[in-house]
Amino acid sequence: MRSIRTSTDLLALIMDNGVGQEMYQFAADLFPICRSITGDGVRETLRRMQQEVPLKIIEVPSGTDVFDWQVPLEWNIDGAYIEDAGGRRIVDFADNNLHVVSYSVPVDATLSLQDFDEKLYVDPRHDDWIPYRTSYYSQDWGFCLAQSVRESMRPGDFRVKIESRLEKGNLTYGELLIPGQSSSEILIYSHTCHPSLANDNLSGLAVTIWLAKVLLGRSNRYSFRFVWGPGTIGSLTWLANNESMLGKVKHALVCCLLGRPGALHYKQTPSGVSDIDELVACVLKDRGEDAVLLDFEPYGYDERQFCSPGISLPAGRISRLPNDQYPEYHSSADNMDLIRSSTLGESLDCLQAICDELDASKYYLNKSPKGEPQLGKRGLYDAVGGMSPKDRQLIMLWLLNQSDGVHSIQRIARRAEFDLDQLRSVAKELEGAGLLMDADTGQRGSTK
Ligand code: ZN
Repeated sequence: MRSIRTSTDLLALIMDNGVGQEMYQFAADLFPICRSITGDGVRETLRRMQQEVPLKIIEVPSGTDVFDWQVPLEWNIDGAYIEDAGGRRIVDFADNNLHVVSYSVPVDATLSLQDFDEKLYVDPRHDDWIPYRTSYYSQDWGFCLAQSVRESMRPGDFRVKIESRLEKGNLTYGELLIPGQSSSEILIYSHTCHPSLANDNLSGLAVTIWLAKVLLGRSNRYSFRFVWGPGTIGSLTWLANNESMLGKVKHALVCCLLGRPGALHYKQTPSGVSDIDELVACVLKDRGEDAVLLDFEPYGYDERQFCSPGISLPAGRISRLPNDQYPEYHSSADNMDLIRSSTLGESLDCLQAICDELDASKYYLNKSPKGEPQLGKRGLYDAVGGMSPKDRQLIMLWLLNQSDGVHSIQRIARRAEFDLDQLRSVAKELEGAGLLMDADTGQRGSTK
């Protein structure tokens, strides 16, 4: 495994998990904020993130077309409750922001229990957990409450109030470009839209912010672009705003669910054979992670948008246990007790190793790809550099055969079963002889 290129101090902090504790505290600070796909909670979150890294906050007006979608009205909420006839608050948004279905329209009414029973959501499997529900794209309202609380409600009239506002405003996302030696980019996306939920959302924000800090503190070959936006509509909006530059994106990685202990899961790109699939799998294997590789499916987080056929970015997703595999998912049990500073630290360490590997990915193009070029007439058969002539020739043939701009030099080395440094040295010779060129200067090749 290659050494991690961070300063000694930062590495020491990571080793004693000081960074894990910093990330945990950051998540704890953000936990109480009521976030949604738009609104002041997202702005407040991004401003807090801005205290850690110099991200730009971008506002996109409601009604803006983004492919087949539109940026919705902005949603904000001041309070909400259900009160019984005696004036006792059964459910109060002030206690937990999961109590209101996100994007609920305003309501102020006295209703009999049977009139609004269908607007009450519970988790029948867990008596005390409040489920998390949303209604972004259909005008509706509702309350989420513990099953035990629902069972305590007797037939009768209740005052039901939701003080929310749905108005023309903006969708807000954050973006940070860390320029590297190359203008080709590695895109990292993490969603920002969940209210008081720790693993599903805040862990991803914490780990990617600290990853950005590491990358800001060193020199990188590729440029790294971080985007923090709401799920689905955020990645769609970013893609629509940046469609003309997508050719520069070499690899993309969606990061989420990184604070709850559990095995790392890497979800592959649709082809399953993009370079990022191979590079991430090798990092996980080299580190001895007990990781799971998941086949692509068109369900999940923002990788769905990045991997849609008209966009077709080579986007994988890294998480720990995915959404459908941990019981606390989308409930009040996904709180600060569920995530661990040590797990956040380990996730960051692994993401750094993945970024190191992606940053080291080098791509060549064979400039004489029709048949094998004649090596003898260029003097390339001569023995040099302590490598046996036979090995050197074989490495040349592998490089020439596989240098199509989409197979990285790491991948070719593994397949050819030669040392990466040997391939690098022979690639330089072939470059000098005019037979290979750096593919990063050209367009992104097919990811298939
Ligand atoms: Zn979620």
